[in-house]
Amino acid sequence: MSGLGKGIITSSIAKILQTRGYRAFPLKFDGYLNVDCGTMNPFRHGEVFVLDDGTEVDMDFGTYERFLNTSLPGSASITGGKLFSAIIEKERRGDYLGRDVQFVPHLTDEIKDRVKKYAADTKADVVLVEAGGTVGDLENGYFLEAMRQLASEEKVVFVQLTYVPSISPGEQKTKPTQHANRLLLSMGIKPEIIITREQEELNEDAKEKIAMFCNVDADAVFDDPLVDTVYELPLVLEKQSLYAVVARKLGLDEKKEADWGEWKKRVERIKEPKHALKVALIGKYTKVRDAYVSVSEALIHSGAEVNANVECDLLDAEKIEKGDAKEMLKDYDAIIVPGGFGKRGVEGKIAAIKYARESKVPYLGLCLGVQMMVVEYARNVAKLEGANSTEFDEKSPHPVIDILPEQKQIVRKGATMRLGAYEMILKKGTVGYDAYGEERIFERHRHRYEVNPEYVSKLVEAGLVISGTHPKNEITEMAEWKESFGIATQAHPELKSRLEKPAPLFVALLKAALKNKKPAG
Ligand code: GLN
Repeated sequence: MSGLGKGIITSSIAKILQTRGYRAFPLKFDGYLNVDCGTMNPFRHGEVFVLDDGTEVDMDFGTYERFLNTSLPGSASITGGKLFSAIIEKERRGDYLGRDVQFVPHLTDEIKDRVKKYAADTKADVVLVEAGGTVGDLENGYFLEAMRQLASEEKVVFVQLTYVPSISPGEQKTKPTQHANRLLLSMGIKPEIIITREQEELNEDAKEKIAMFCNVDADAVFDDPLVDTVYELPLVLEKQSLYAVVARKLGLDEKKEADWGEWKKRVERIKEPKHALKVALIGKYTKVRDAYVSVSEALIHSGAEVNANVECDLLDAEKIEKGDAKEMLKDYDAIIVPGGFGKRGVEGKIAAIKYARESKVPYLGLCLGVQMMVVEYARNVAKLEGANSTEFDEKSPHPVIDILPEQKQIVRKGATMRLGAYEMILKKGTVGYDAYGEERIFERHRHRYEVNPEYVSKLVEAGLVISGTHPKNEITEMAEWKESFGIATQAHPELKSRLEKPAPLFVALLKAALKNKKPAG
């Protein structure tokens, strides 16, 4: 069933394998007919995540990477759109000459080939395939059929993630699970591991019922309880001896020990932090928290690094635009302006940045956050009146942010932004360089606009520090203030933040916020 946290379960099982030295790689099936997530609105689908190779994918990939501390290739995402466009292209080319092209075997073969190729390319010991959607949906039926077939070609174990509602406290109903299980059986898929989500801990009675009615081993029903932090889940499943069952079913070494040292330490710091910080995230999609999930996760990772609980409030940029930025932001220890598109709320973001700069509140800008930092600086420090991004004001007398030259001719919307990991060279002696501790870094991008190279010298003269640039062209990749902590990048460093390797700029932001917080004297 969708919405139960399949991504987190998939990541947790993969983590349990990874901590034992196995190469565990997740792969996701999505039934929708979009080729990728790039054209979807965060309101509908949450944040668009970007991989190193520039593939735009959904939020689950962020979860995979954050858990596994691994960068995944675009081939980890198989969507209906990708499959159908490949099949139609092959048909037009004549690859199936003389045949009628069918869901079985052509589409299912296409799926199986991609899964096998992914396993080979990643040199995986185990591939964890997450089938998006709900069993019984028209959308993912062909994926399940492909996996049914794959089970007789490879060693496969099916895991059913199911919801167990409670009618009243202690009264857990397993019927929905039983029926979902039968639906899977009717498709030729026999789950051998069942994981249950519920409002309260799965009781023994319910567990036994599920094992009996669904024909799984008594030790193969697992509880996926509510946890304080999702990063605790691998530990919770470990405690229930999930590995033993997975190892038995897949023929792995059942005796292999896990090394949880670092992971456990970080989870403990998330649960019992020493310090507390309040961060304001100035956004537009305030009704959907999922729109900024990588940013809030990066705050959790960096919070665990500096031993602080970070309360992250999502503030509506439009309200700041209409109200008093100072009044609305005065209780925050740090301010972040995340990525965004479109004019709505941008003046509120600029007002928040102005407040941060003038009041010396640590500031971090991500993509649109660097663009708005530059606009604020241009208007209020360099005195370039009316400075703006041409994304929001085509007639601005000072277009300090302008469309990238290579973007000018592009009309098609799908996968045409400047996407994926690009190199950035950091200038020694800057906050950016110190945060990363190295000169050459790779961060992921997703944008069409950039700091207008024609204005760079004017901005530098006025005092802005350009701390990062692309090595070959003139793209400004990072900028910072001199007088107080304020740093922003054209990249999305939040996309590469992991629990075991937090994004350096987020760590730097929190350190600056902690330093500021110390009472005088
Ligand atoms: N809208 C801006 C651009 O296209 C910023 C994009 C972003 O924040 N991801 O360049």
